Amino acid sequence: MKILVPVKRVVDYNVKVRVKSDHTGVDIANVKMSMNPFDEIAVEEAVRLKEKGVATEIIAVSCGVTACQETLRTALAIGADRAVLIETDVELQPLAVAKLLKALLEKEGAGLAILGKQAIDDDANQTGQMLAALAGLPQATFASKIEIADGKAAVTREVDGGLEKVTMTLPAIVTTDLRLNEPRYVTLPNIMKAKKKPMETLKPADLGVDVTPRLKTLKVSEPAGRKAGVKVADVATLIDKLKNEAKVI
Ligand code: AMP
Repeated sequence: MKILVPVKRVVDYNVKVRVKSDHTGVDIANVKMSMNPFDEIAVEEAVRLKEKGVATEIIAVSCGVTACQETLRTALAIGADRAVLIETDVELQPLAVAKLLKALLEKEGAGLAILGKQAIDDDANQTGQMLAALAGLPQATFASKIEIADGKAAVTREVDGGLEKVTMTLPAIVTTDLRLNEPRYVTLPNIMKAKKKPMETLKPADLGVDVTPRLKTLKVSEPAGRKAGVKVADVATLIDKLKNEAKVI
């Protein structure tokens, strides 16, 4: 079984993003970019499934600018077998990415796609769900455990009240939650090996997909700054303030 793992290049999670002065978005010039952390978990899970003998090939895919090649090289260093860059300078929105992924999933005949539950830049949490809908496939989102056997995937999901277990027939779409696994460190020998692994470049038109944005960003602004706190003298004052000022107890 082939596993498709979409990986997005995003601003590194350690970077404090700055809003552009014209409020059109955040400034990504000269900012460290990395693989979306949930996608690293997805690649790790695919590699573990291959190590267990469940998967035969892992294909990492990234949609976006040429620099996404770096993100794909990281996926290859973690253990993906080959990579596909769907190259475009157009700003990609979840629906466009989902259409590209659907086309690639069908072209490759993959039995499973493991995506991140959300990209930490736009926090959309939409692509996996849209991909499942467009491809007409079952989906299990927010996965904290994946077991594959007899053409089925049993997925434990993190839901508000605790854990829910669902089973789906393959092919299927899974999105990862934080506790699914802890991705391995990328070692130098694996970075070197990754350089020799195949990377194919496609254009959206090669997959017959129109990626024109459908949504327009009206304005991006910083969240309101936090007001300074106060130190209280004792517990009685704290209780009084919580009761009468904050009115939370
Ligand atoms: P989102 O719906 O934007 O929060 O993204 C959810 C997941 O979809 C990510 O964790 C990735 O697995 C995948 N994804 C989103 N955008 C891209 C992209 N440009 N290239 C590859 N995968 C993507």
